[in-house]
Amino acid sequence: MEAVAAVLKSGKLAQGGEVEEFEGAFAQAVGARYGIAVSSGTAALHLALLAHGIGAGDEVVTTPFSFAATANSVVFAGARPVFADIEEDTFNIASSDVAGRITSRTRAIMPVHLYGQPCEMKEVTRTADKHGLAVIQDACQAHGAEYEGQALGSLSTACFSFYPTKNMCTGEGGMMTTNDGDVARRARMIRNHGQNGRYLHEILGFNYRMTDIAAAMGRCQLARLDERNRRRMENAGELTAGLSGIPGLVPPVVRPNVKHVFHQYTVRVTDGFPMSRDRLREQLGDAGIATEVYYPLPIHLQPLYRGLGYSDSLPNAEKAAREVLSLPVHPSLTSGELGHIVGTVVVLVDGGVC
Ligand SMILES: *Cc1c(COP(=O)(O)O)cnc(C)c1O
Repeated sequence: MEAVAAVLKSGKLAQGGEVEEFEGAFAQAVGARYGIAVSSGTAALHLALLAHGIGAGDEVVTTPFSFAATANSVVFAGARPVFADIEEDTFNIASSDVAGRITSRTRAIMPVHLYGQPCEMKEVTRTADKHGLAVIQDACQAHGAEYEGQALGSLSTACFSFYPTKNMCTGEGGMMTTNDGDVARRARMIRNHGQNGRYLHEILGFNYRMTDIAAAMGRCQLARLDERNRRRMENAGELTAGLSGIPGLVPPVVRPNVKHVFHQYTVRVTDGFPMSRDRLREQLGDAGIATEVYYPLPIHLQPLYRGLGYSDSLPNAEKAAREVLSLPVHPSLTSGELGHIVGTVVVLVDGGVC
């Protein structure tokens, strides 16, 4: 609040020094050379595609099991999202299904690090390199996550969101990071009306700028990111310890080669569980435990995409949409609250409430 008040008192509210400081600090924190702050995570994705030169006639292979903004950004760019199915256990894009989706029109792969767990970046990058494709990471849920000891921003262009539900927030906001100086230069122009110098519009751009008010929040939030991620990971560990061994309830699977920052703690409620996923959700709600389904309808089945002609079936994504349930994992949870979550599920199963 003090940092925001200082910006308000300065009278300089739009993109300025605070944004520049935030870009440098955030890029460094995620292992990237350049950070380009924008007005949302969606803007960051759109900007990244345009900065990589992706447009009409191009295809981008991505996941159907994400927030719609992932694929929508490809549509904004005039390109076509092509969906690969997901891994059953991590819910991330199945690298084994990516290669078969590549055509002569494919220009990029856009994986999502869903719920805060990095996808198999080695496999994705290998496939991309083989076909000369860009990798644009949707890291909107994965601030501070690592793949094989490396921060995500060091691996390829990445996009982050600072919406209030994310691991760090600026009200609304986003950031594209990259190690490619040309991509960074183009992104900076496109963010600001395509200007290369004052009132010199070299290319078509947008107003995707971040305010200094948001950036001031972002700098404070960034300073607390590691600590808050650590709390999320500890909370996840406690939940998994308490929820393991319950028939039909599958706690999150964490790959040994990643740092999963638990944007969400998502279990799978399978047929072996004594009640349906939606009934469990109701019962938890009655006990004062807020849960959510991310996401109940995969992107390829959304009315928008049906209208665009998508009709393929992607069985793992469709199954995940029926089974996933995200339990509270945020850093402010008390150990009493964690105990209440675990205890409520255990009583529902053991106490014959099912
Ligand atoms: C939140 C989110 C976005 C969009 O970010 P906004 O800041 O809300 O525009 C995109 N992709 C994923 C995976 C997200 O979780």
